[in-house]
Amino acid sequence: MSEKDSIQVFVVPPIDTNCYAYESAGEVMVVDPGNCGDRIAEQLAGKKVRWIVATHGHGDHVGGVAALKAATGAPFCIHAADAERATHAGEVAESGRSYDADAPLPDRTLAEGDVVEVGTARFRVMETPGHTPGGIVLVGEGTAKGVAFVGDTLFPGSHGRTDFSGGDEAAILASLRRMGEEIAPDTTLLIGHGPSTTMARELATNPFLR
Ligand SMILES: [Zn+2]
Repeated sequence: MSEKDSIQVFVVPPIDTNCYAYESAGEVMVVDPGNCGDRIAEQLAGKKVRWIVATHGHGDHVGGVAALKAATGAPFCIHAADAERATHAGEVAESGRSYDADAPLPDRTLAEGDVVEVGTARFRVMETPGHTPGGIVLVGEGTAKGVAFVGDTLFPGSHGRTDFSGGDEAAILASLRRMGEEIAPDTTLLIGHGPSTTMARELATNPFLR
């Protein structure tokens, strides 16, 4: 990742979801505003929010989209297969929790190979179903080369749970194998909850990548 680009992380309640703001050349892409969209917007005041992107449609990743979009006017992007799920973020989910608000329907749907541009950075969309049907990983290119947003598909030494509706164990294992083959080892993986890792470390230690 270029030294000119930067990443801020906002850890939002109630289950410590990492919301990321990737900034490049005066533009910002917000990834997974799971709650507190108004407070995230306050933190980004004065910056041009170009995109709001969700790695998947679970409420803890999209509950803040409505407020953040209202405050910034930025378009909301998600894979089509998770768009409907995101519109229920404000309802009590299988987890027993609910989040600030339902997400709006997307302004842009994302699919395999699509590119999200922000400043001089580009993020290529990799479809990684398994945690949800419409889960995606955003692989950095251009000045974002070396970072990837992986949502809840991969956790250090493990993977996201597959026991919620739409979860698929075989699919997530295939997604993880693909990530291991296609994402460069020196890539920093920015996770949906908890500390980041690298692909090299996961290739060496994560049993689900073998
Ligand atoms: Zn999730």
